[in-house]
Amino acid sequence: MSFNRRRFVLSCAATSSIALVALSGTATAQSSFVSGSSGLFSSDSTPAAPEAPKNIIYMIGDGMGFNHVSATNLYETGQTRYQVAGEPGAVEALPGGEAVQVYEQSEWTQIAASSYQDGNSYDPARAWSDHNYVNENATDSAAAGTAMATGVKTTNGIIGMDPALQPVQNTSEYAIAQGKAAGVVSSVPFNHATPSAWAAHNSNRNDLHAIGEEMINSDLNVIMGAGHPFYDQDAKPVATADEDYMLTSQYERLANGETEFTFVEDEADFQALADGNVSSDKYFGLTQVADTLQHDRSGESVTPYDTPQNDVVDLATMSEAALNILNQDEDGFQVMIEGGAIDWAGHANDEARDIEEVQAFNAAVETVVEWVEENSSWEETLVIVTADHETGYLAGPTDDPAWSAMTGAAGVVPNHNWFSGNHTNQLVPMFVRGTGSEDIVAAADEIDPVRGKYIDNVEVAQITMNKWW
Ligand SMILES: [Zn+2]
Repeated sequence: MSFNRRRFVLSCAATSSIALVALSGTATAQSSFVSGSSGLFSSDSTPAAPEAPKNIIYMIGDGMGFNHVSATNLYETGQTRYQVAGEPGAVEALPGGEAVQVYEQSEWTQIAASSYQDGNSYDPARAWSDHNYVNENATDSAAAGTAMATGVKTTNGIIGMDPALQPVQNTSEYAIAQGKAAGVVSSVPFNHATPSAWAAHNSNRNDLHAIGEEMINSDLNVIMGAGHPFYDQDAKPVATADEDYMLTSQYERLANGETEFTFVEDEADFQALADGNVSSDKYFGLTQVADTLQHDRSGESVTPYDTPQNDVVDLATMSEAALNILNQDEDGFQVMIEGGAIDWAGHANDEARDIEEVQAFNAAVETVVEWVEENSSWEETLVIVTADHETGYLAGPTDDPAWSAMTGAAGVVPNHNWFSGNHTNQLVPMFVRGTGSEDIVAAADEIDPVRGKYIDNVEVAQITMNKWW
């Protein structure tokens, strides 16, 4: 499937020195629920498997490039995947160890995704022949989120609009128009760029109070995130409001029941929703912490968890709560769940907290998988686990000019280096599972010599709106 985008034809001349190594698990389509039974001589009457997912759970590790996954694998198990080594022009993917992370099990199909903003592109040949190529003009989370939410490329800083500032429909709105439910969940402020892209339209991602107002007045069924005006970075109450993300007046309207949302903020209330005690079809959950659940808490981290964690709800619990709310709609739902502070750790070049954030995101993925198997099925639900871009140019210690691998052992921060304090234009990993996976894999029709098949970040939304729904 191809939607009005530049076709890349891999040039033999340009890539002849680049090892064509397929990573284990790359683009291995899982088809058990597609090819399944049937056959001419089958006597069973199993109905044909659905071609379109009823529910879409789009999980985004903000800034979570391949090496962020690798570093967490190294820390957890001493083994890794997805790493590369070699001189520019002769880079190869290294074979991985046996250990896998939650979303790398055999049930998942792994591809890659390009993330570039409007006006840029991704050239595989250049990406692996010039160490600095991926630093050029990389996307931000506003442009990437908009691309993933709407199927339309835009310019950095823009939420839910095309480069000419015309509003474009997102898959939350599309789902609601189809009679489905929709929601956004994040470990960073509820109106940060990634959740905003599934909920708002604004030429400026930093117009936070207006974006927040649009979200509070929206038709979404679930909005959950940080950004509480009356709590600090350590999840302690403060008397004077910090209105960076939410105005006191907005908080009061939510808390006093003056909006259509049922409002929750206590950890126990999120837990009750996660336990299935749902009494409304529309919830706003504001976590009792300032900017993000854990990343900005006090203390310098040398190793993961070496400073006390905030006593605040975690992303896994928020995710389960959101799914229980959305699943009340018999027509299905669309939800975006973001591990938002992987990106923040990448900007800070803080490997200990990067690992913490990837682990918290993985825990949310694991919870989502369990939820699907207990409350839905892979026949009716599609889960996508990906990133909006890579942050920090995380890699092995001596990557300039040659790429090298991170090394390490279980329980140890890997031997690594950061080559940027910003985003990069690298391909990011994408793992898919459930009905609809085949369509995504089929759309991943461009080939990177190291990462294998890749899709562009606008394509899942396009398939959602043009084919499935
Ligand atoms: Zn960022």
